[in-house]
Amino acid sequence: MAQKIVVISATITVGELAAQLDIPVTRLIGELFKNGIAATVNQKIDFDTAQIIVDELGLEDIELQEKDETVPEAIESRKERTLSDKAVTRPPIVAVMGHVDHGKTSLLDAILDTKVASGESGGITQHISAYQATHKDRVVTFLDTPGHEAFSALRQHGAALTDVALIVVAADDGVKPQTIEAIKFARQANAHIVVAINKIDKPGADVNRVKQELSEQQLMPEEWGGDTVMVEVSAKTKENIDKLLDMVLLVADIDELKAEVDVPAEGLVIESHMELGRGPVASLLVEHGHLSPGQYVVAGKVYGKIRTLGDYRGDAIKDAGPSTPVVITGFKEMPGFGDHFSAVKSEKDAKFQAETAQRAGSGNSANMNVTSAQLLQMISKKAEVSFLNVVLKADVQGSLTSLVDSLQMVNTKEVEVRVIGSGVGNISENDVRLASGSEAVIYGFNIEVSSNIKRLAAREGVSIRVFKVIYELLDDVKEVMTALLAPKVVETEVGSLIVRGVFRSTKDTIICGGEVTKGKAEPGVLGRVLRDKEQIAEVDVVSVQRQMQEAKEVFEGEMCGLQLKTHGKLLIQEGDRIEFFKREMQTRTL
Ligand code: GDP
Repeated sequence: MAQKIVVISATITVGELAAQLDIPVTRLIGELFKNGIAATVNQKIDFDTAQIIVDELGLEDIELQEKDETVPEAIESRKERTLSDKAVTRPPIVAVMGHVDHGKTSLLDAILDTKVASGESGGITQHISAYQATHKDRVVTFLDTPGHEAFSALRQHGAALTDVALIVVAADDGVKPQTIEAIKFARQANAHIVVAINKIDKPGADVNRVKQELSEQQLMPEEWGGDTVMVEVSAKTKENIDKLLDMVLLVADIDELKAEVDVPAEGLVIESHMELGRGPVASLLVEHGHLSPGQYVVAGKVYGKIRTLGDYRGDAIKDAGPSTPVVITGFKEMPGFGDHFSAVKSEKDAKFQAETAQRAGSGNSANMNVTSAQLLQMISKKAEVSFLNVVLKADVQGSLTSLVDSLQMVNTKEVEVRVIGSGVGNISENDVRLASGSEAVIYGFNIEVSSNIKRLAAREGVSIRVFKVIYELLDDVKEVMTALLAPKVVETEVGSLIVRGVFRSTKDTIICGGEVTKGKAEPGVLGRVLRDKEQIAEVDVVSVQRQMQEAKEVFEGEMCGLQLKTHGKLLIQEGDRIEFFKREMQTRTL
């Protein structure tokens, strides 16, 4: 029999599904009822449930397929994307990384020969920025980062777009924790590594020691028989900057770096902020295709029509091809840092994609309970290292310096404070975004916080703590560190149930029913599945029903329908006991 393929979204209303299947909606509702789901026409059901119903209805000529709505997530695989023969050579993307104060900004300055740092308070980079330099008629794109946490945030968003990691190590300071992280990042991102051993003009410079320390990280210089390119430079005297660029290009050429041009533009959001009179301003890095003014773009949950297109300096341009960092205006709202963007044909498409992403996103944040998988992740994270990321702002350079120094002193074996950004002046939107991307706390010393910033911080879930006395600030840092150290897992029993029937089991969903024997059953809690008094699994209780109607709670002595989400394969049997409980992480403050 010829199969008819019906493509539906991850969630679909009962009415829409009936229309797509071309059956009366009453038949669908009836079948859902039989399976223990009391649904109305406008109620949404998920793909798995739809699949079950299609099977139950015996609609053998219909093959249900889930619509791929993961456009914004599709970045990870893009590096491995198979390119067409129309693909053209593109400039390499070089991420400049390294320990704070080792000279990333100065080196970029020297490369670009512009004063990138001059406009910044305290000379410390506040956000990820991108620049382009031309060397021997070839363009190189640089990404500048404030700390590796921001890079982890980028990576979390699926962006493995760095071709070369330029790791800056100060010759007078050597390999430091953030250097090691940079190396780790480069390896994870599958990027080639070039090491710039900087500050060789300084009296305390010891290049050999740095090489020795790097080789302990399995980065062996070429002259020692290894294959890591290391260039000794000085950002101050500009010694060997040309050689460094030669090497970066040489290493980038190991791969044939190409990009599609005959496709709608796509790439990554690397920065965004609001500007008075201009609205949302976003920095994008084009990966494929060409951007031009007037195009519609979607980035995660937001969309817009490009009103102005500028290069990395902000100068208006008419077209931006692969590896080009651009600044655009025209988004209706601020796109998220690390979001994938793409150009689409029409406003309608743009709106549809943004709304789809919005729906998918809101589904995730709805579950406030800590699931077992999340908990495991958190515990293992805790066991490994605890870092307290801090963005520090102070009124004057003197206080800033002494605060940074004092923060080093409060480090303990278990928790390390990392200043991932700092500067003199009031807290800016960039500070908040940096903190949000790296789960950092912002500390302010002797400064004011505008209500705008407070609102943004609240929206981004960033904690801002302002003090006027240094030791009070330090005490607060210690308190937060303690809280990081001692998260308490609190489990509260809610009730239990004996399974009397199992209606459906799929990959990760079980629909069953039984009698509540103690307390109550309610949606959103967790369940321990016990067989012969032994726990065989833990499940999430998605929804509960009383007499086939969704219920907020079903009490002791009542019959109860359950939709459970499983983690891994699980077959629930009649007679199994499910103990319902809530699990919450309790930290002392923060
Ligand atoms: P970043 O935190 O890695 O971006 O480091 P910066 O570029 O802000 O540099 C930190 C400090 O080191 C600044 O005071 C720079 O002037 C200084 N610095 C950077 N590169 C050199 C160099 O090659 N030689 C010397 N003597 N100082 C440098």
